[in-house]
Amino acid sequence: MPQYDLHILCPNCGNFHDALIRVALDESFDVRRVSDIYQQGIPLEFYQAIDQIRCSKTDRRVEQKMPELMVLVAIGRWSKPEPRNMPKK
Ligand SMILES: [Zn+2]
Repeated sequence: MPQYDLHILCPNCGNFHDALIRVALDESFDVRRVSDIYQQGIPLEFYQAIDQIRCSKTDRRVEQKMPELMVLVAIGRWSKPEPRNMPKK
């Protein structure tokens, strides 16, 4: 199955950060919002992973609880993620 890395839009610097959690899904895409994929509820481990990461620019914790700002990205697809890559609804 294709694998995806969780990324989160950082409220501190406005860039996406890798949340260092990888999932396998039985569907194929480049980038999708987590809230579009997990319509029944976001997995708890996503929130836990995001709690662990720090902003690489400001060294502050990434406190982002909004599922619509989490995206899953096909592995290796984002070397330099930018907010403009955010998929349209
Ligand atoms: Zn940041």
